[in-house]
Amino acid sequence: MSFDTRIQMNGLPISVYAPETVGCVVVDSSGGCAATTSSGGLMNKKCCRIGDSPLIGAGTYACDLCAVSCTGEGEAIIRATLARDVAAIMEYKGLALQKAINYAIKERLDGGKAGAITVSKDGEVAYGFNSNGMFRGCATEDGFMEVGIWE
Ligand code: ASP
Repeated sequence: MSFDTRIQMNGLPISVYAPETVGCVVVDSSGGCAATTSSGGLMNKKCCRIGDSPLIGAGTYACDLCAVSCTGEGEAIIRATLARDVAAIMEYKGLALQKAINYAIKERLDGGKAGAITVSKDGEVAYGFNSNGMFRGCATEDGFMEVGIWE
């Protein structure tokens, strides 16, 4: 697969991000939430680096409120415990999912570039990112489908 290296995101060719990250969040009809994230990491990563994706609470998290899968600069995501923070903000601040992800992205990343896909136990779907774009899609059981890259 080849990507146009002239297209950039966060000052890097979009190919740095495009081919390797797959996150998924789901909710079932009884409100059960699950999340998973797969990543090849970032280009030029250090040997043996472990990113945020396999770290529960950092890049991936699900509980009885929501499911969250993150992408972007793993070190910033880990420092922020970004995925868990979305759930904590919902629980402790009483915010709805979209407001919780907006808050986490704005307040917790400390300059890092990242984003997340999320779904709540009630089926609310929300995205948040502070990068120029984030590849994403959504499908529901009644046939609704959408994809997006930009804001
Ligand atoms: N978050 C990943 C990492 O830092 C990169 C990605 O797949 O978005 O390893």
